[in-house]
Amino acid sequence: MPGFEPLPKDGDVASSAHVSDRGHPLMRAVDAARRVGASVWRSVPLQLAVFFLPLVWISYFAITASEKTEALQQARSHGDSVAKLFQENTERIFERVDQSLSIVRTLYAQDPAGFNLRSWGDRAHLASGDVVQFSLIGLDGYMLATTSGYSGPPLYLGDREHFIETLRQAHDRLYVAKPVFGRASNKWTIQLARKLLDKSQAPMGVIVGSISVDMVGNFYETAKLGAGGTLILRNTNYVVLAARGVDQNGFVGQVADERSQSRLSNPAGQYWSEGRTDRSNRLITVRRSSLFPLIFTVGIAEQEIYAHYESRRDIYLGGALILTLVIVVATTLHWRRQLALDRAQFELRDSLGKFEDALRNLPQGLSMFDGHDRLIAFNRQWLDMYGISPDDIRLGMTFHEVFAHQRAVSDLDGYLSDLKRRLIASEQTSNTLTFPNGRIVQISYGRRQDGGWVATHQDITERKASEDRIEKLAHYDSLTGLANRNLFKERIDEALARHRRMKTPFAVLLCDLDKFKSVNDALGHQCGDALLRQVAGRIKAEIREVDTAARMGGDEFALIVMPGRGSLRDGTSILADRLVKALAAPYDIDGHPIVIGCSIGVALVPEHGARIDEILRNADLALYKSKNAGRNCFNVYSPHLTVEADQRSLLEIELREAIWREEIEVFYQPVVELATGRTVSVEALARWRHPARGFVPPAEFIPIAEEAGLIVELGNLVLAKACRDAMKMPDDVKIAVNLSAVQFTKSNLIDVVKFALAESGLPERRLELEITESVFLADSAENLKTLRSLKALGVSIALDDFGVGYSSLSYLTDFPFDKVKVDKAFMDRIDRPETRAVLGSIVQLVRTLNLAIVAEGVETQQQVDEIGALGIPLGQGYFFRKPVPLADIVSPSSAAPKWQAVA
Ligand code: C2E
Ligand code: CA
Ligand code: CA
Repeated sequence: MPGFEPLPKDGDVASSAHVSDRGHPLMRAVDAARRVGASVWRSVPLQLAVFFLPLVWISYFAITASEKTEALQQARSHGDSVAKLFQENTERIFERVDQSLSIVRTLYAQDPAGFNLRSWGDRAHLASGDVVQFSLIGLDGYMLATTSGYSGPPLYLGDREHFIETLRQAHDRLYVAKPVFGRASNKWTIQLARKLLDKSQAPMGVIVGSISVDMVGNFYETAKLGAGGTLILRNTNYVVLAARGVDQNGFVGQVADERSQSRLSNPAGQYWSEGRTDRSNRLITVRRSSLFPLIFTVGIAEQEIYAHYESRRDIYLGGALILTLVIVVATTLHWRRQLALDRAQFELRDSLGKFEDALRNLPQGLSMFDGHDRLIAFNRQWLDMYGISPDDIRLGMTFHEVFAHQRAVSDLDGYLSDLKRRLIASEQTSNTLTFPNGRIVQISYGRRQDGGWVATHQDITERKASEDRIEKLAHYDSLTGLANRNLFKERIDEALARHRRMKTPFAVLLCDLDKFKSVNDALGHQCGDALLRQVAGRIKAEIREVDTAARMGGDEFALIVMPGRGSLRDGTSILADRLVKALAAPYDIDGHPIVIGCSIGVALVPEHGARIDEILRNADLALYKSKNAGRNCFNVYSPHLTVEADQRSLLEIELREAIWREEIEVFYQPVVELATGRTVSVEALARWRHPARGFVPPAEFIPIAEEAGLIVELGNLVLAKACRDAMKMPDDVKIAVNLSAVQFTKSNLIDVVKFALAESGLPERRLELEITESVFLADSAENLKTLRSLKALGVSIALDDFGVGYSSLSYLTDFPFDKVKVDKAFMDRIDRPETRAVLGSIVQLVRTLNLAIVAEGVETQQQVDEIGALGIPLGQGYFFRKPVPLADIVSPSSAAPKWQAVA
């Protein structure tokens, strides 16, 4: 394309509307006609043709017309002069003959008898070619004498026209009679006659001279009238006397018709005659003799007149035709080229128009530069996008001039050379520019053949913003602003890739909040959310830019930690420790002072895994370990955790089997009244006698049963057995059964309890259910409802392991427990005054609430004394008795069953 010159130089593309209705067929035809017309008027050769063609033909007709006129003119003057010569010639002959007639007549009149015509004739050499013979005719009509040598009987000629008409004439004038075909001479002759006059001038006969018709015609050869030329001699009676150039025999003696007579009556003149026999027109020149009764006509054939002219006219015509042909052919060829050119130009303009339309209506900005970095096309949208005024821009400006005042790119040279380098490497490339005002423009460059480029510019600020929003939704946790699970996994992938490339190690931390559930339940979701946000804030404060913090859902957080200066393990341990402490510090949520903790599991890469699932599983095992280790701590993964985990899963399988085979046994441990030593109740404790491992402690298999959902069946088993066994115990001894929190959520506990009681026949008052505060942590509202229903059955409810976890005293007021079991941890530290202080206040509260209180894990006399002193009336522990099978507890043995003593 030869540039885009049609674009207005001022760059105001928007104003250069170039729109036409090119669709309608009629419009198209009109358009085409207009185009043809326009092409004629714009084509110089066509203009020349239009000028020269008529000129050629006008010249042709003018020249031929003038030549024709000239030919006629020449013919007329030729006819004139021939006629004059014809007349002079003939008159001379007639004059000579007439002179002879006059001489003979005079001689005869002087001596009619003695005049010998014959000898006079010989002497006078009358027969010099003109005259055939002289004859004298008497008044009687008989021939008197003749020069012809006639010697027959008297010849009567009185009936002859020349005799009659000559005598009839009043005057003495030469009479020219109609030609006669001589019987003797075998020739046409013209008779010239005069009266014979005597001395008194009276007529005495007629003298006749005959001249040959041919004599008149002898002149014809010299007249050069050409083909069809005629010489005709007539007398004044319009009788043809002689004729040349026509059939003499058919013509001589004929009288001209009326029309010719009137034409011939003029003394001199010219007219056109239609040829009678040969059908050719002739130009007739007429002359009338003033001396003799003769009329001369000269005919020149029209063909002859125009022969020369016509041959020349044909040459002219040929020339004109050739010239016309040349002009027409040349012009046609040129015109066709012009048409093709016009069409091409039209199409070019049309496509340029379309291009402009497209430019104008493009939602994007467009700019086009040539191989010399010069602007060759653009649209208004482009100007607007870069805030360029139309007055400051014109086609042909260089890239540098155009973008001199923009502020998105600081190094124009670098930008341009980079762009060119990329366009050489590939046909298309793109860039994104961010302007200081925050607008973002995406530019797509396409290579042009001349080394330039076309660029479309799109303002993607909005799009980018919504993309960012979507990206945020897809990758970030909306509550805390931390990365979400997806992004976290992507980041691990990235870190793994980096590790593969550069051997950069990193650590993954999984972090579970302890007690978050209870905050949520106690203070509501809004406070829970606020707490999570604060936790996120604290986590962010502890890590560096290079690390990633994510919320995986609920109260689970996760971190990717990049190595610092020291070893990764040390750095991560320090960070984990800091985190545990930071998250354990009290929070202020809406004025509520809140304390929670966290458990952290750490996996190091590559030490603890090279795949994302492996890494997360190991971190999770470490986290499990932390949770099991009493929470508020961190653990780094080590292979034995996997071993333990494997063992757990093996145990799970075996436990499932044992439950199914009802191999779970129940041991009983009494709760003793310190003052009397009486057994007030027994606690049922599950026992699993493993075929290979012997007894597996409940502390090991109960959590497994809980995790695997086996606890429901196991619990039902223990409950049913305990109720049945209790029927074999004294009626005043209660049976205490442990309930897991899982049993609240995963079974219809009320029905199960009712069924166990009904099946065993145990009165409700003898059954005590032990729960821990974990029942309040999960789904507390629902669990509380169940708990109330249980209590409504008439069974009593004890709060087990009181004082360990996060035991808030609030549980005691939330639900009307019957008994509180103080955890063994208090016994272990009973020698400490602060422990005794805490126990003292618990005892006080329990008394206020009117609850029973039991000290668990009592092993020594000293502990018995201490709890007694603190006012705790009941105790349970090895000091009194270890858990034993039913048989041991109901039948008398060495370790005397104390209720029998009482009983
Ligand atoms: P727990 O409910 O606190 O049970 C008391 C635990 O303390 C029993 O351990 C018992 O043998 C032990 N114990 C009693 N006196 C002493 C003592 O003087 N010194 C020491 N060192 N320990 C003493 P056991 O039987 O191993 O049970 C552990 C835990 O397993 C129980 O703690 C209970 O939470 C759970 N558990 C046991 N049986 C069941 C069951 O049938 N259902 C449910 N849900 N949990 C059970
Ligand atoms: Ca218990
Ligand atoms: Ca306990």
